[in-house]
Amino acid sequence: MGCIADDHTGATDIAGLLARSGVPVSLRMGVPDCDPAAADVAAIEVIALKSRNLQAQEAVAQARAAFHWLKAAGAGRFYWKYCSTFDSTNKGNIGPVAEALMADLGADQTIYCPAFPENHRSVYMGNLYVGEQPLAESPMKNHPLTPMRDSNLMRLLTPQVRGKVGLANRPCVARGAGALQAHLHDLRESGIAHVITDAICDEDLQTIARACHHMPLLTGGSALAMHLPGLYREAGLIAGDMKAPPPPDLPRGSLVLSGSCSAMTQRQVADYLKSAQGYRLDPLEIARTGLEPALDWLKLQPLDSAKIVYATAAPDQVRAAQQALGTEAASALIEGALAQLAQEALALGIRRFVVAGGETSGAITRALDIRQMTIGREIAPGVPWVYCTSGGHTLALALKSGNFGEADFFTRALQQPESP
Ligand code: ADP
Repeated sequence: MGCIADDHTGATDIAGLLARSGVPVSLRMGVPDCDPAAADVAAIEVIALKSRNLQAQEAVAQARAAFHWLKAAGAGRFYWKYCSTFDSTNKGNIGPVAEALMADLGADQTIYCPAFPENHRSVYMGNLYVGEQPLAESPMKNHPLTPMRDSNLMRLLTPQVRGKVGLANRPCVARGAGALQAHLHDLRESGIAHVITDAICDEDLQTIARACHHMPLLTGGSALAMHLPGLYREAGLIAGDMKAPPPPDLPRGSLVLSGSCSAMTQRQVADYLKSAQGYRLDPLEIARTGLEPALDWLKLQPLDSAKIVYATAAPDQVRAAQQALGTEAASALIEGALAQLAQEALALGIRRFVVAGGETSGAITRALDIRQMTIGREIAPGVPWVYCTSGGHTLALALKSGNFGEADFFTRALQQPESP
């Protein structure tokens, strides 16, 4: 199975959900530059792009490059993953990428299923709901890059594609996989290539997966994909005895690096400080004195102690730093500092890292030159341990975006018996 995701945290999300099946999942950041025929590939490969806000033509080019790599690596089923709020503009990029991949695969029909009922995203009569609000009345109406001003997925998709758009509605889905297949067949006969599928509960997703898993290309959020590995196994497309690799055997030393200022991360940092040594990074102080004091502190900590470096601060402190330094400069300063601390920790022999913050995670994985990750055990919904190498060393990372996890997330990640 080859998945192409239009952003990095979305890729981690789908990789984590796919790994629930027990099938080995590998996540690659960007289209790999290695030879697919010679690469060590997992049964499920996910390629993370950053294509959501590119021009449609560029997004299509990247998705096709990812597709050709996955195909050459042996993938026979493909999944185009986008956000469960259908984040896109009038021109794309959900439709253009789907249409290009269909052309490459010779597929005459695909489905669009962004629903994620567990996270309160449902689709009814082609309209997307965030909780009880239609998409266009939800906070997504004010998204800075992809404001969603219409809740109707048929109207949103139609200008993005050349082919005809249709609907498989909830009453049809509720009648089961056979009824849905018959309806898709009828739509295909009348030339409808792009089918929005309603889903309001997980049973709907199971029905859709069962009815559609034979299609070479499926598109949607991460929730539908979760049901596919089991069906591919049943169909003999994935070997039945395949098991995810065990966690690597790593030294006990660890470091938590927190650059998220979300409400949940603030609680998590406060909770972890009850049992761990902590160093607070202040952007204004770094601007004045540089990072030496933080690096010195890190060098003095015993390797196997519980420790955290955090820039996590309350909104008024963040605002003060942003006013003094500029928002982008403050962010860049903190991201750069945490990335440098991660490099130093690696040099000191630390092999287990827990990172809080989506952008922060990106900065740290880039600094450690991590191109590929193997998905391990889930710590909290949407946050798996990932295993990778950096500078020839095996590492375990937990990359947590802002509001994920409970208050004891850091302790839970590092101190559970089955942690790497
Ligand atoms: P989240 O997943 O919660 O959105 P991110 O890491 O994506 O977290 O974003 C948080 C941003 O805030 C990062 O760019 C980080 O560098 C910045 N930041 C963190 N701490 C501070 C601070 N004390 N002052 C200003 N900016 C900060």
